[in-house]
Amino acid sequence: MFRILARKRFIRNIKHKKLLIVATRVKELDNYANLPNDELRAKIAEIRAAAGERLTILAHYYAPDEVVEIADYIGDSLGLAQAAAASPAEAVLFCGVRFMLETADILMNRPDKIASRGGKRAIVMAPDPSAGCPMADMITAEQAEDWKRQLEEHVDFSEFTPITYVNSSSETKAFCGRHGGAVCTSANAEEVVRKAFERRPKLLFMPDSRLGMTTSLALGVMPEEIVTWRLNQPLGGATPDEIKSAKVILWGGYCCVHQRFSEEIVRKIKENNPGAKFWVHPEAPRNIVELSDGYGSTTKLLDVVAKAEPGAVLAIGTEWKLVDRMRRQNPDKTILFPAEKPSVCLDMSKSTLAKAAWTLENWFEGNPINVVRTPDDVAEDAYCALESLL
Ligand code: SF4
Repeated sequence: MFRILARKRFIRNIKHKKLLIVATRVKELDNYANLPNDELRAKIAEIRAAAGERLTILAHYYAPDEVVEIADYIGDSLGLAQAAAASPAEAVLFCGVRFMLETADILMNRPDKIASRGGKRAIVMAPDPSAGCPMADMITAEQAEDWKRQLEEHVDFSEFTPITYVNSSSETKAFCGRHGGAVCTSANAEEVVRKAFERRPKLLFMPDSRLGMTTSLALGVMPEEIVTWRLNQPLGGATPDEIKSAKVILWGGYCCVHQRFSEEIVRKIKENNPGAKFWVHPEAPRNIVELSDGYGSTTKLLDVVAKAEPGAVLAIGTEWKLVDRMRRQNPDKTILFPAEKPSVCLDMSKSTLAKAAWTLENWFEGNPINVVRTPDDVAEDAYCALESLL
């Protein structure tokens, strides 16, 4: 109790600028790495109790169990962005990957949000700041601008709405915001793309070619009207005529975690389990989505499993840790994984209990670490595109 009171007083002193020097040193991760999970949980619980509403912990469904268990809110990209935007907290520990933290930083630090906190910015912290998304990194702001320049030699760019999947950097979102575009998630992609077609006749979709393809086809775009822009090829590997007649141009990015599902295994599961249903995330390749009984966001897949009858057999094509959790949470159903090996997102696995305790304790002692901050000019443009999520 004494420790908690001393810490509270320390934070209060910082707030009223009574302390001019930092009273504690930044603690190193080594101090936490070998602690047992029970001790780490106790440290985190102590900080949460003392911090109250000033702190929120968010976790993506693909985070490890030990981290999901300490979260106030677990969700997919759309749910997490909305939870961050609605949060009154002044600090967030976000157990996800970098683009999610950038999005939370932008949504939590709009001028009206800062004003509601008496002028204070919210701090968004990562347990491991090296956790990124390889698909988000498949397009940079420079590549997006260069893409636009190349297209402008053949088409009127003002006919296109640029849409980026939320799995992209804040700079890519800012590119879309500057050019009248929007951000979508796998949960609302069809709605966002439908609205884009109401405003302009053509679409640029980045970085996930798989989600862009599935969404465009679902909305009635013909396969021959879609061009996938191949990276590092002149004019994306397309002819000028193909570019001119394209209704949709997709950046050729993809998620390596969702590439590993096998047509053969899906067929075998169906043969061996008559009545089995196969559901998949739309980041999967088109041939796999075509074999499925349905596709949807992570939240949708969880809903499908939860609503299945006891005894049902389901094959679920998404990140392995989540599918494994579904199995444990639904022992009355058979949940199969349609790939040869578990397909794990290594970046999502970087959030651990030790890193969470390390990050939180440093924040609580007045030395925030692992803070993700988007530059104001990028945040401003990115927000124009992010409004579609709210
Ligand atoms: S699962 Fe794929 S899209 Fe999601 S964070 Fe990992 S690499 Fe990125």
